[in-house]
Amino acid sequence: PCTDFDVAYFHSYAHVGIHEEMIKVLSFASSLTARALKLKDRARTETYKEAIMQHQSFIQGKVVVDVGCGTGILSIFCAQAGAKRVYAVDASDIAVQANEVVKANGLSDKVIVLHGRVEDVEIDEEVDVIISEWMGYMLLYESMLGSVITARDRWLKPGGLILPSHATLYMAPVSHPDRYSHSIDFWRNVYGIDMSAMMQLAKQCAFEEPSVESISGENVLTWPEVVKHIDCQTVKIQELDSVIASYKFKSMMRAPMHGFGFWFDVEFSEPASSPAKTTSATSVASGSSSVSPSREGNHKKRSNPSDALVLSTSPEAPPTHWQQTIVYLYDPVDVEQDQVIEGSVTLSQSKENRRFMNIHLEYSSAGRSFVKESVMR
Ligand code: SAH
Repeated sequence: PCTDFDVAYFHSYAHVGIHEEMIKVLSFASSLTARALKLKDRARTETYKEAIMQHQSFIQGKVVVDVGCGTGILSIFCAQAGAKRVYAVDASDIAVQANEVVKANGLSDKVIVLHGRVEDVEIDEEVDVIISEWMGYMLLYESMLGSVITARDRWLKPGGLILPSHATLYMAPVSHPDRYSHSIDFWRNVYGIDMSAMMQLAKQCAFEEPSVESISGENVLTWPEVVKHIDCQTVKIQELDSVIASYKFKSMMRAPMHGFGFWFDVEFSEPASSPAKTTSATSVASGSSSVSPSREGNHKKRSNPSDALVLSTSPEAPPTHWQQTIVYLYDPVDVEQDQVIEGSVTLSQSKENRRFMNIHLEYSSAGRSFVKESVMR
């Protein structure tokens, strides 16, 4: 009889990937854990360190909470910057190692590791600073920002600092012929055998879910648009249940369009009321106008009116473990120069698992329209 194991076994062979792997004899994926990858992500870790150092005068002598401390690295940077006390909170068992790391660095009197959820742990004082590295793929995947908001509403003093202070998610139409031929056209001729009968399944498997990968400025057809701008001081949890944005692009070139790329940046600036520096709504505008398809070099320290440090995951910025996220169309659409591509995108938390994200994309161009639904699991 066919057991459940068999069902799962055969099910795994219904995925194009396993066959693709066998044929291509790809090397096995790196065994690095996501957390190790995060620490190896220099742009990420160095920008956080730099942001902490840039706000050293604010942090000195103050109380900090690190929301999701992981190994404790950001808590330790804050302690090194002169914080009086740092509450390093993590619900994962990594908190055990964080505590060891803190001890080994002689910081046990300053950094208090709390093993539990930010929603549940008790901190018996107000805090001046919240630091967190909460961003997921496509910014909102993982839905960890809600926990930062909870920490803010539980403990942050009025006028306190949140790092990062702002986040912006962008989207732009992209062309990615290499990826398409690698995953789909590949089946046209496999060891001399016409396997194009596989192509429909390959498209389904390759493009059903959003894909985290690196693209370059050359893949981007026109200037990105803002999907969502978040001010961490004021954002409410309910706002994140469902993010809806309409878009209207004008392609700058003639190309096969394969889908939409998404990326984000976060900014590390002082609260508006802080005497040290002022930020304003102008920083929102700077985000959309200075991230270009292929014009800019290093975005990490791009100048903006508030001169705040920015960690960008745009195709033009130094690579990060977030890369970019591409929502592919099942079939490419040939677009002309100046062709208008419009529609909307809705990002919502999945009912099945709140860490999953549903992506509802409406597309309309040159008299053709369709909807693409996908889930990021
Ligand atoms: N700050 C570390 C780790 C970032 S990864 C660094 O920068 O390297 C995010 C961490 O947040 C994970 O370790 C995860 O376990 C933790 N986390 C996510 N949601 C949390 C919550 N609600 N309460 C406590 N920890 C949480």
